[in-house]
Amino acid sequence: MIKNERIDIQCPQCGHNEFKLPENLKDSDFVKCNNCHFEIMLADLKEAGFEQAKEVVMPEMKIEAEKVFKNLFKGLK
Ligand SMILES: [Zn+2]
Repeated sequence: MIKNERIDIQCPQCGHNEFKLPENLKDSDFVKCNNCHFEIMLADLKEAGFEQAKEVVMPEMKIEAEKVFKNLFKGLK
């Protein structure tokens, strides 16, 4: 059985986030992008999703860090 499911990870090829997933999904199963039909192992797709999440989170962390540094320098003057 194959089902269509929207997941929070973007296709590494086209950025689409709906995939065909087998029932009883395992990390070693292949999932297929609904848009470009790119096939990727679930374990690799999860890895790609983790990288995407880091890219989203990192710029925000950098802004917070800059605010903290600016406040530190204010205190020194
Ligand atoms: Zn795709």
